[in-house]
Amino acid sequence: MNDAPARSPSGDAAISEAAAGAILTIDLGAVRENYRRLRTRLAGARCAGVLKADGYGLGAAQVASALMKEGCDIFFVALLAEGTALRKAIGDRPEIYILNGLPPGSEPEAVAAGLCPVINSGAQLKAWRAMAQGAARRLPAAIQVDSGMSRLGMAPDEVEALAGSAGAFDGIEIRYVMSHLACADEPRHPANEQQRQAFERLRAMLPEAPASLANSSGIFLGPHYRYDLARPGAALYGINPTPGEPNPMLPVVRLQAKVAQTRKVGKGAGIGYGHSYHAQGPLSLATISFGYADGWLRRSVSAAWFEGMRLPFLGRVSMDSIILDISALPAGQLGEGDLVELLGPSQSVDDAAGHAGTIGYEILASLGSRFHRRYIGG
Ligand SMILES: *Cc1c(COP(=O)(O)O)cnc(C)c1O
Repeated sequence: MNDAPARSPSGDAAISEAAAGAILTIDLGAVRENYRRLRTRLAGARCAGVLKADGYGLGAAQVASALMKEGCDIFFVALLAEGTALRKAIGDRPEIYILNGLPPGSEPEAVAAGLCPVINSGAQLKAWRAMAQGAARRLPAAIQVDSGMSRLGMAPDEVEALAGSAGAFDGIEIRYVMSHLACADEPRHPANEQQRQAFERLRAMLPEAPASLANSSGIFLGPHYRYDLARPGAALYGINPTPGEPNPMLPVVRLQAKVAQTRKVGKGAGIGYGHSYHAQGPLSLATISFGYADGWLRRSVSAAWFEGMRLPFLGRVSMDSIILDISALPAGQLGEGDLVELLGPSQSVDDAAGHAGTIGYEILASLGSRFHRRYIGG
């Protein structure tokens, strides 16, 4: 067990196993092994950890502590608020970058917490330069260029203009020049090589600095994409960075829900809100304490699992409960308080995402805050 107490993302006190409707087990040993596997692939390039959205829903502080034991000392979050919270949790030493940049006026807060902005525009550069001037010291930052995703980062004409303007980077210690790939999970997509070449052109215009391009899937695009620092998120959490091929990562999460009640119903019984399902014959049902308020996507075609047996959802997903068809199990095998699996060996995060027509990232990031969280292998 990890020594850090299990906390919900909102920072509330941990929810006890007895009081919770569902149990989320997070294997920090698997996170560490995934980090080691990525680092092996990176063959000498550095490897950061991306912890935005509370570590993809799994607990940024706990994941950071586990990664630090592997020697990881560079982290990325999306928002300044995430950065200040992470700084408090992990101490002064690791570098923490704010991917979305700093909102205007928030620079002093970033300096006070020792956070590095990812500078995405000329205006952000100017604000950080002024901050450095006021502080009378050089302030660290990463410069992000838009190599073709059109989301965040300086546009090529902006980079060109800055390159020609004297003193544009005065007072700024450029730790990395970075960019982000739009299609890295599709290795044959022509945008990958186009973006890499655009990145080469843009970074050549900027003061010389270490470079960073690859996210999880980018690490698997080949040596040209490694540069000096990779920024994986998803792969650390067990999401397959090579869709369509076997997952080279270990699974990290297991989600189990408690049975609240079992019952038998006869043919014709209406099941759940709106009676969207009627029993075609006698059925055994189990209602679990888990619903859409726990982040389970309501339209996902889905099922829970018990000892390798698939237990289909019947009727609509409610806010706090789901009705399962357990007729395939021997009578009495599943009872009140027993656990069924929603994510784990029988149904991976990527499987669940496939059923729900989404991506593993969304399954993890939507996980709710009222689980008992159990950290193992830390
Ligand atoms: C989210 C993000 C990452 C991590 O991406 P994964 O696909 O989860 O590995 C890296 N870089 C940037 C800029 C990001 O926004």
